[in-house]
This record gives sequence, structure tokens and C-alpha cells, in this order.
Amino acid sequence: MRTDEYYMHKAIEIARQARQEANEPFGAILVKNEEVMMIGENKINTFCDPTHHAEIGLIRKFCSEHHVFDLSEYTLYTSCEPCVMCSGAMVWSNLGRLVYSVSHDQLAGIAGSNIMISCEEVFAKSPQQPEVVKEMLNQEGLKVFEGYQFHV
Ligand SMILES: [Zn+2]
Repeated sequence: MRTDEYYMHKAIEIARQARQEANEPFGAILVKNEEVMMIGENKINTFCDPTHHAEIGLIRKFCSEHHVFDLSEYTLYTSCEPCVMCSGAMVWSNLGRLVYSVSHDQLAGIAGSNIMISCEEVFAKSPQQPEVVKEMLNQEGLKVFEGYQFHV
């Protein structure tokens, strides 16, 4: 049986790949019944779209391409705690489960700034809340940012 660690390791690999492709180092992976349904990379520079984060890019592409409106049976693994925009997309798509590695506060420390609203604050406002698993493979997730400079 594949574990959360297995999929999180993959999400972190995707974050590394995004960095190699001159985007910001964030990756996500959508799983249902132990099957990888789609991967998502941060593509803000590739698409010249400052909103093209790994998670919301994945959710939009997957839902529209597969005509899926409800992600309640899916788990999204993401290398970093989702921002307020991506957390909102998780509410609108009714995501069932979220697993992340690097926390919002850790990212704020690395990037120098962040919108200081955690994903759980967003979810707390919604009647539908994904189950959240925090800081999975946290040290491995943090390594992706070594030597990385954010342009903010
Ligand atoms: Zn985001």
C-alpha cells in the first residue's frame, strides 16, 4: 500500500522540477484510490500568470478536463501549505483531504512575506472542510528552498 509519504515525496520532486524550469518551487499531486490523477507545478513564469500556483492550476485543469465538479473523494498533496487563493479553490471544489509539507509560517520566513492567512483559517469559514495533515516530510520539503531567492 502506498503511503502519504510516497505521494508527498513525489509532490516535493515536482516542486524541484518547477524550480529547474525557472518557476517558483512548488508542486502538487492529486490522488484518488491510490492512483495519481494529475500533477501540478507552479507555472507563473512559463505562462506569465502570477496566479498559476501548483494547486489551483491543478484543480482547474483536472476538473475542467475530466468534468469533475467535486473532489471530496480526492487527496491533494502539496509541497507547501496552500495560499489563501488556492485554499479557496479547495473549498469551491469540495476537496476531501489535504496533505502539505512546508508550513505557511515557514514559507513566510523563507520568502520574506506571505498573505498571513493560513489555509485552516480559510477552511474554518467554510461548512465543507478538507481533512488536513500538516508538515509531512517537512525537512525534505524545506530543502527545495535552499539557496532560492523569491522575487517579491
Ligand atoms: Zn496558491
